[in-house]
Amino acid sequence: MTGESVAQRLREHPGYRVPFSVEFNPPRDAAGESRLWRTVREFECLHPAFVSMTYGAGGSTKDRTVRITGELATQTTLLPVAHLTAVGHSIAELRSLVGSYADSGIRNLLVLRGDPPGDPLGEWRRHPEGVEYADELVRIVRDLGDFQVGVASFPQGHHRSPDLAHDTRHLVAKLRAGAEYSITQMFFDVEHYLRLRDRVVALDPVEGVKPVIPELMPITSLRTVRRAEELCGRPLPAAIRARLERAAGTGPVEDAAAVRAEGIRIATEIAQRLIDEGAPCLHFITLNFAKATSEVLTNLGYSAHQTTTAVA
Ligand code: FAD
Repeated sequence: MTGESVAQRLREHPGYRVPFSVEFNPPRDAAGESRLWRTVREFECLHPAFVSMTYGAGGSTKDRTVRITGELATQTTLLPVAHLTAVGHSIAELRSLVGSYADSGIRNLLVLRGDPPGDPLGEWRRHPEGVEYADELVRIVRDLGDFQVGVASFPQGHHRSPDLAHDTRHLVAKLRAGAEYSITQMFFDVEHYLRLRDRVVALDPVEGVKPVIPELMPITSLRTVRRAEELCGRPLPAAIRARLERAAGTGPVEDAAAVRAEGIRIATEIAQRLIDEGAPCLHFITLNFAKATSEVLTNLGYSAHQTTTAVA
């Protein structure tokens, strides 16, 4: 199971017209870990193409992250992808981390530079014995053995890129270095995703055939809007914000149920458009909860029964 690659899973995934995948975060404590495992079991029934586990900036939860990602490989039917970030690590430490993942049966890595811990927009400082950019780490990982590598892409450009042409050039450099696919930063305007795909194809038609997996997250409350904006790196589009605020109502207490319903509707619309536009997979940020993502999947017609029948 873990010998498979994400790219292979996307090509051969049975059951759904467009596969989906989910992102988990390393839990902070035992209670969080129990909740994560309940969420994992709920998604397992729906047969995601893969599941990814983020990596805390600088490795603050390193041991727990490696252990749980390994358990996903050995104790579930899921294909785990470990995020690997360069920030705060020497090359020797990164090699050792990759070795720990390999020992746990993990062969799929999402290779990232990471942001400065504490302040993602703060000054980037390379570890004195580390790497400057993610493409270097892609090469290091590929040289270490039989690993399948993905990288990050940015529909509206990375916040440190001076323009979209620079951004696309360096994304293509990561693909040329050996990445097999990219997963995008979350977005709410599908046009940005479509233009990113077009830019990559225009710059390099060979690398342009590699999957660009869109990332999305259902908004479930006005509080999660801030989290969504952090993850997008930009404010929500005005039209989306207006829909959520209208649902919240003008009374002294926000209509939480209406906001949640509108958030699920928005995510469903975005996902449906992505399916219609030929996205290779839908990658959901879950914040370790299954319910909202499952509702979006149900709205789109995904069900455990559907894929079980198709797999059989
Ligand atoms: P890079 O590809 O190195 O790019 C960084 C910037 O440098 C870009 O502006 C790029 O255009 C530019 N650049 C690249 N190469 C060159 C060059 N040779 N010369 C000049 N400029 C160059 N962060 C975490 O800490 N943990 C996670 O688990 C995590 N998961 C993520 C998952 C996804 C899907 C995404 C989209 C992001 C994730 N991040 C995570 C955040 C990510 O680490 C940051 O966005 C980081 O700032 C960029 O990482 P990168 O790998 O794209 O960097």
